[in-house]
Amino acid sequence: MYVHVVQRRSDGVIVRGAKLHQSGAFAAHETVVIPGGALRKGEEDYGVAFAVPNSAKGITYILQFNPLSAEREQAEDIFHLGNPQFGQRETCLMVFDDVFIPNERVFMCGEVEFSGSLIQRFAKTHRMNCGGACKVGFADIIIGAAQLAAEYTGTEKAPHIREAITNMIRISEASHACAIAAAVKGKEEPPGSGVYMPDDLFGNVAKISTAHGFWQIMALAGDIVGGLVVTMPSFKELKNPATKGYMEKYLKAAVPAEKRMRVTKVLQNWTAGLHGPGTWHGAGSTQAQMISLHRAANLEEKKRIAKKIAGIED
Ligand SMILES: Cc1cc2nc3c(=O)[nH]c(=O)nc-3n(C[C@H](O)[C@H](O)[C@H](O)COP(=O)(O)OP(=O)(O)OC[C@H]3O[C@@H](n4cnc5c(N)ncnc54)[C@H](O)[C@@H]3O)c2cc1C
Repeated sequence: MYVHVVQRRSDGVIVRGAKLHQSGAFAAHETVVIPGGALRKGEEDYGVAFAVPNSAKGITYILQFNPLSAEREQAEDIFHLGNPQFGQRETCLMVFDDVFIPNERVFMCGEVEFSGSLIQRFAKTHRMNCGGACKVGFADIIIGAAQLAAEYTGTEKAPHIREAITNMIRISEASHACAIAAAVKGKEEPPGSGVYMPDDLFGNVAKISTAHGFWQIMALAGDIVGGLVVTMPSFKELKNPATKGYMEKYLKAAVPAEKRMRVTKVLQNWTAGLHGPGTWHGAGSTQAQMISLHRAANLEEKKRIAKKIAGIED
């Protein structure tokens, strides 16, 4: 099932297998494939890393499909969607059915002893970006939309609404800070290579903090916007002669109904869509970061300090 080498030739290798959840692969010029986990001796065929151009012979992309995909197919106007200008992050199941990869595109082939460090370097870079940058950008949209929703309904000065907004900012910026720290504390790896990698600890903390914090941000935004976020009628009713007047009368607040509906739809996308599990699992579910954190933390040094404070001499 995992992508692996099925034939070694003098000019390259033939690979078979599949990769789930490939974000945007169908639209990218190239896909870079690395092993899915650290490997042991005897698993050399799975220790393969390479670059493959889009739609190379033998590759099939099977796109994701969910309620938001169905909604997009039905929408008459993109502004009836929750993220009209950028859409969903589309992933696909990418199948490699005996794909030929020429030697010049193969970066690893059987060197299983390096698979762990390859994954670790990929993971800490991805976790720094995914946790402390990408999702912080998502949070900026959610916080902005939640503030607008509060202003549209006139609750923005209520102490608990201000507190909810402030908590959203606190959670998001803590992850943002970890990403910046991971970059600032990055090191040349390996020394002399000219390649700089983020700090392992802060990169992982950025991701794990976001994984937990994003659910909280979603919950706080859901509280502020109210039940309309999941009960709102269709934008089509604003054009339906039988319902238009009712919609305009009963859905208006400090702003006309359509404006309120648009910001509510944005929040529906972020709080009642795909983003909770997407944020949790993207860049590895939290257990993967817990393992990395435990490894990266210098526990010996912490023990040394504690012993010194306690006056313990071994
Ligand atoms: C929106 C999105 C976009 C993504 N984009 C990409 C992409 O572009 N490229 C890419 O390669 N990947 C991508 N991924 C994949 C992502 O890295 C994985 O989803 C993530 O690593 C979790 O793996 P999984 O989905 O197989 O879940 P699983 O690993 O099956 O995890 C499910 C649960 O099982 C537990 N579990 C897993 N293994 C064990 C074990 N051995 N023992 C005990 N418990 C275990 C986990 O801790 C978790 O609680 C994306 C994922 C998402 C959600």
